[in-house]
Amino acid sequence: MEFSSKLLENAVYEMSQLPGVGKRTALRLVLHLLKQPASQTGRLTHALNTLREEIKFCRNCHNISDLSLCEICSNPKRDNGLICVVEDIRDVMAIENTSQYNGLYHVLGGKISPMEGIGPQDLTIRSLVEKVKSGEVRELIFAMSSTMEGDTTNFYIYRQIQDEGVKTSTIARGIAVGDELEYADEITLGRSILHRIPFETSLKAD
Ligand SMILES: [Zn+2]
Repeated sequence: MEFSSKLLENAVYEMSQLPGVGKRTALRLVLHLLKQPASQTGRLTHALNTLREEIKFCRNCHNISDLSLCEICSNPKRDNGLICVVEDIRDVMAIENTSQYNGLYHVLGGKISPMEGIGPQDLTIRSLVEKVKSGEVRELIFAMSSTMEGDTTNFYIYRQIQDEGVKTSTIARGIAVGDELEYADEITLGRSILHRIPFETSLKAD
């Protein structure tokens, strides 16, 4: 792609670093932004800058939050003995949308994937295990996507806490293997949380 302007080229290059955005799309987006009033572009860059500078991760569940303790963890009406283990904030949002879950979450920040060089130490597993060992947790619900990486992650955590006397379950999903939680419809996902099965049962089924 030949550019007559270095400024344009730089903007297109940075835009094309976003996932799913090729050079052509990047050019279209940048030209679109150029047609907008400067105030519009200013609001966009301001929103992104303040997001980067001010965003926090909840000290309890590691979810993205505006405060050091997120709204879910600080809600006294939530059941803090019930912890749903998820990969990221998109799963929290999907499960919250079902209105069928009243416990807390633990956001791992990814899943164990040797292929991508992601090991247990790159995730928030240690803090989850400590939480379980502290005795505050009654039940752990594994709600990772049922991919090989998701299963590996669940099993790794299970092995760390299996002697702690905590109930472990996994969401009984009408969701095909490999589907991500965020794409499951709310009714199916809500039902699968209500009808969750003991984690050991899911191991025997394999
Ligand atoms: Zn939280």
